[in-house]
Parts: sequence; structure tokens; C-alpha cells
Amino acid sequence: MDFLTEEQSAWRDTVHRVMEREIGREYVRHCDMEREYPYEAYAKIAKLGWLRLLIPEAQGGDGGTIFDYALMCEGLARYGFDFATAFMVSTFTAMNIVKFGNTQQREQYLQPFMRGDIRFSISISEPSAGSDAANTRTRAELAGNDWIIRGQKLWCSGAAAKNAIIAMLVRTDKEAQKHRGLSVLLVPNDSPGVDIRKLPTMARRATGTTEIFLDEARVPVHNLLGEAGDGWHIVTDHLELERIAVAAAYVGNAQQAVTDALKYAHERIQFERPIFEFQVIRHMLADMQTAVDAARLLVYRAADMASRGEPCTREVSMAKLFASETLQTVTRQGMQILGGHSMLPESDMERYFREGMQSTIGGGTSQIQRTIIAKSLRV
Ligand SMILES: Cc1cc2nc3c(=O)[nH]c(=O)nc-3n(C[C@H](O)[C@H](O)[C@H](O)COP(=O)(O)OP(=O)(O)OC[C@H]3O[C@@H](n4cnc5c(N)ncnc54)[C@H](O)[C@@H]3O)c2cc1C
Repeated sequence: MDFLTEEQSAWRDTVHRVMEREIGREYVRHCDMEREYPYEAYAKIAKLGWLRLLIPEAQGGDGGTIFDYALMCEGLARYGFDFATAFMVSTFTAMNIVKFGNTQQREQYLQPFMRGDIRFSISISEPSAGSDAANTRTRAELAGNDWIIRGQKLWCSGAAAKNAIIAMLVRTDKEAQKHRGLSVLLVPNDSPGVDIRKLPTMARRATGTTEIFLDEARVPVHNLLGEAGDGWHIVTDHLELERIAVAAAYVGNAQQAVTDALKYAHERIQFERPIFEFQVIRHMLADMQTAVDAARLLVYRAADMASRGEPCTREVSMAKLFASETLQTVTRQGMQILGGHSMLPESDMERYFREGMQSTIGGGTSQIQRTIIAKSLRV
């Protein structure tokens, strides 16, 4: 697996070291149990300058590659995918602003984002717009110098955190159908008329996912990102980055699940021997590690292609599909290996398992990834 360059290996090791020494699994577990946003860790990561990684140098960032970013996501998700989500969702919109924002928006948002003073959320989903993401009903109309927004958004991760700005997909042309007539508005979460409620979900407990009610919510006219009508193009532009990032994070979390299960199998004595000595357990662990290595290779291939600017829709979907299903499978097997102890929060496995259950849904379901891959298959 070690075909990374020296620099990439050093970067990967740095992220893992920071996670282990500066943040730690107890902190990640605590945030999950208490459903607390990881503010302290977010501030630490911002201070280290890691939020700058993908932002181009010309805009004050480090101009890193998607591969560098994937290595970071893999490490940040080591003790839980949800934890890494806090950083990932914020970066996707920052990159939208890099590409589609005007000079004023870049100046207004990018520096505060890199310092960790503001964060972003993405709000595409609605009660009637899930996999059919363009079925947007939330409307925005211009009234003088403001956009007035009416409707309801669903599953917006991180929107309830302090100083969050929501990149919200809204319909600005009521005559246009589906993908046309959509726009992205940057909606600060304390804007008048915005009511955000954190949902008591099984996973994503710390970063939190929310429903948002928009009752004549109001944002200034200059909060439109890009041009009116470009919304679909803008929100799909970051899909490649998003799916590589989440897939890398699933791999990071899945690897820790296997490592934890392996350690437990060596420590747990039953019938006067470590349970690792039972062939059924050894074989289960062999399959788990094989799946994680395969997922990592798919993620690195997709990240490498994306970093080179090569078309990689199919490879990205394969990585997202396989990594998410691997996280789900190895955490289920991990639960079995840990036996009764797996049920306790202290084991962390029940948390990894919950993350696994959402991984095949968020960011485009497994069924949608298979549909994308199938479209690319040629006789
Ligand atoms: C924890 C969590 C966090 C999330 N965070 C965000 C966020 O920050 N921002 C945001 O905008 N959204 C977010 N989402 C929403 C997420 O993107 C959607 O849940 C996802 O796109 C699926 O939509 P749905 O849940 O409505 O399922 P549906 O689309 O209703 O799908 C239900 C089932 O039908 C299947 N299905 C649907 N259409 C097809 C088809 N054409 N072919 C085959 N099968 C199909 C699906 O695969 C699934 O199995 C989040 C979701 C979760 C669970």
C-alpha cells in the first residue's frame, strides 16, 4: 500500500498523529454522546492551517491537491466519520466560492473560513427532493434589495453550528422545471425568518443534521452565488470532490474499526485462549482488512485521477460505493467480534456501525452510485 510519495506519507502521518495526540478518540466519542459540535477541534485544525489546504494560493490558501485532501479526510475520520464531516461540508462550499464567487464574496468569506471564524453547510435536500435532488420546491423571489425565501429544507448537516452560512439550493424561476431555474443563495443561519432544528438522527450526532423552515426568510441580493439559474451547475460541480472526500473518510473510519476489532480479538480470552485463535474470527478479520485495502486503493485511484484533472465520474462513484459498503460491512463484523461489549459507547464500534449505516445514504445512495457506474459500462 505504500506507493505514496515521501511528502504524502509524511502528511498522512502528521494527520494521524494530530488525531491521536491532540484530539483523541475520547473527545470524538464525547461529542457523539452529547450531540455536541466539535468546536474545540475545529479551532485546532483551523489554527494548524489545514482549512487552507485546497484553497488556491492566489486566494490565500495552500493550493493542495484533491489527493492531499483525501489523505487528510482519511485521517480526520479515523475515530468517526461524523467528526470529519464538520470539516468536509465546510470545504465543499468554500471551493464553490473559489470557483463561482465574485471578488467581493471571495474577500468576504474565504479568509474567515480559513481562520475558522465561519463555516459552511450545503442545503440541497428537501422533503420531496432526496435522490431526485433537483425536485426543489423552496422558492426565492427578489423584493427590492433582498431575496425572500419560502419553503423547507431537510438533512442540512452542520447548519445549526455557530457562525454557519448555508449554501442553499432554491428555485428562483418558478416557470422553469427541474434542473433549470435553480440558484444558490448564501444564507447565514441567523438570518431573519430562518428556523433551524437539529434532528435526533442515529448517526451524524455531533456535526448534526437539521431541518430548516424558511418563513419569508431574507438575505441581501448580493448573497447570490454565481448567476441566477446556475444553481444546479454549482451544486453538482463539487460532487467529485465531495464523493472522494467522504469515500476517503469511510476508509479511515473502516480501518480503525478493523484495528479495534483485531486488538480486541487478541485481548479477549474465552475457552482459555484469545478469540483470535478461532479460525472463524481470524478469517473474518482477514476479509475485513482485505476489503479496507481494496476500498483504499479505489479511493486513491479516484483521488489521483481527480488531482490530475482527468475525467473520473465512474471511478469516483466506484470509490464512494465500495468504501461506504465496506464501512458498513466491517463495522457489522466488528460488532460481532466484540460481542456484548460492542453495544457500549466505550467500545466505539456501535458508533462506527451507526456511521456505516448512514454512509450508503448520504452523498448519493449506493443505488444512485450503481446507476452512475452502469451508465459508463460499454460492450
Ligand atoms: C446523516 C445525513 C446527512 C445528510 N446531510 C445532507 C446535507 O448536508 N445536505 C443535503 O442537502 N443533504 C444531506 N443529506 C441527504 C442525503 O443526500 C439524502 O438522504 C440522499 O440523497 C437520499 O435521499 P432520501 O433520503 O430522500 O432517499 P430517497 O431518494 O427517497 O431514496 C429512498 C430509497 O430509494 C432508492 N432510490 C431512489 N431513487 C432511486 C433510483 N432512481 N434508482 C434506484 N433506487 C432509487 C434510494 O437509493 C434509497 O434506497 C443527508 C442525509 C443523511 C442521512
